Amino acid sequence: PRHADPLTFSNGFTTLPPAHYTRLMPTPLPEPYLVAASARAAALIGMDVTSLQTDASLALFTGNVVPEQVTPLAAVYSGHQFGVWAGQLGDGRAILLGDVAAANGEGRYELQLKGAGLTPYSRMGDGRAVLRSSIREFLCSEAMTALGIPTTRALCITGSDQLVLREQPETAAVVTRMAPSFVRFGSFEHWFYNQKHDELKTLADYVIDQFYPSLRETGNPYKALLTEVTVRTARLMAHWQAVGFMHGVMNTDNMSILGLTLDYGPFGFMEAFDPHHICNHTDQQGRYSYARQPQIGEWNCYALGQAMLPLIGTIEDVQSALRIYKPAFGEHFVDLMREKVGLQTRQPEDTGLFDHLFGIMQDSHVDFTLFFRKLSDLKIANPTGVEAVRDLFLDRPAFDEWALQYAARLQAESSDDTLRKLAMDAVNPKYVLRNYLAQTAIEKAQNKDFSEVAKLLSILERPFDEQPENEQYADLPPDWANDLEVSCSS
Ligand code: AMP
Ligand code: MG
Ligand code: MG
Repeated sequence: PRHADPLTFSNGFTTLPPAHYTRLMPTPLPEPYLVAASARAAALIGMDVTSLQTDASLALFTGNVVPEQVTPLAAVYSGHQFGVWAGQLGDGRAILLGDVAAANGEGRYELQLKGAGLTPYSRMGDGRAVLRSSIREFLCSEAMTALGIPTTRALCITGSDQLVLREQPETAAVVTRMAPSFVRFGSFEHWFYNQKHDELKTLADYVIDQFYPSLRETGNPYKALLTEVTVRTARLMAHWQAVGFMHGVMNTDNMSILGLTLDYGPFGFMEAFDPHHICNHTDQQGRYSYARQPQIGEWNCYALGQAMLPLIGTIEDVQSALRIYKPAFGEHFVDLMREKVGLQTRQPEDTGLFDHLFGIMQDSHVDFTLFFRKLSDLKIANPTGVEAVRDLFLDRPAFDEWALQYAARLQAESSDDTLRKLAMDAVNPKYVLRNYLAQTAIEKAQNKDFSEVAKLLSILERPFDEQPENEQYADLPPDWANDLEVSCSS
């Protein structure tokens, strides 16, 4: 079904008791303009992307006009930030318009305006988001989708010349995000730490009935929910690791109960490989470094498990649900790694092969994306013969040694060079959202030229395709990008 313009909204979230949210209106922004729109996200809700250019759409997705049937709200949640209990947080600048039917008939999408003004949960913030961070969130949401990684979506960005003060004055923007739900681990923690176990149960029942209905059939649906969320989170972490995605702020209030990548801030994609890389300039301890993401994902599941203890019943049941994290992560990560290097069979020595590889990539600061993409050119008969791969290593003999082991492993499963290249190129992206690419698009957009945002979106929608006309977008970062710092400021 296609949506007639305007969209038909309801708001399933308001079936929860009022304690879970505050109804309020977005705060308008003056003279909004369309910065970017995702045709693919629009198609999910049966919208044609051209309809996002109308004045009515601009007003709706800036929060300037709210249709009569829409009951906007901001949700309350709490969370652990950098490992410390932070107390009440909540949608400080995101306002949920409501939900609309998915065009394919499978479920609904909530539409949320991020940066739409003050809410009761804004604390010291101004309720706004800047154009810079909005472009980063928009592009990365759609890029992650194209990489096959679960994530919230981004429908469009609207901008306004209204100034917002950060380290320096910037202009305001609103990203319209889409997801079946924006409920976070911190939404559960909120009721646990406030000792409101009835509200905790209401929230859990809502999540199960709306998004995990099959769990009702199990003996302990709450334990089953924790198990399912733990598995999804573990698999999400494996996927992040496999593409070199670093979230940057894995606080429990940024962890999705649906296992989606949520709340894009100071994220980054791994370039020169360093497992201790910290993409968030504000994270001085490196709590959320690349190497620590899997264990932080597990830590966050423990925080959720703690919060769900009153529903699940016993500590033993909570622990037995959480125990699935390590194998779920490990198996998925190794499977993804096998795909990345084109292995068709499973052998016990494979993890050793991968550890060896990560070691030499670290020693030589090898670009993560370029390496895996180019590795598909390797030929079993001459494993050290691909200059474009070998030259990525400062220590060429170290690469040669690994390549010989790898080729022997390929040989043992009678791997075919041509077929393997096809398979590897379908899982190792040529194009990822490198910080310098985002930065270039942001600087143009800050001068009212939005063409580079659209161009990047179109490239990142086809990350596995060879795009000869866009070869330079796969390049290593230029020298000026060494000084790029990404902080929580957004
Ligand atoms: P984050 O770490 O960006 O996910 O944000 C943590 C909390 O701060 C969330 O409750 C956000 O809604 C809130 N927040 C972040 N930036 C702002 C802002 N500019 N205005 C109001 N609230 C904000
Ligand atoms: Mg957040
Ligand atoms: Mg945020």
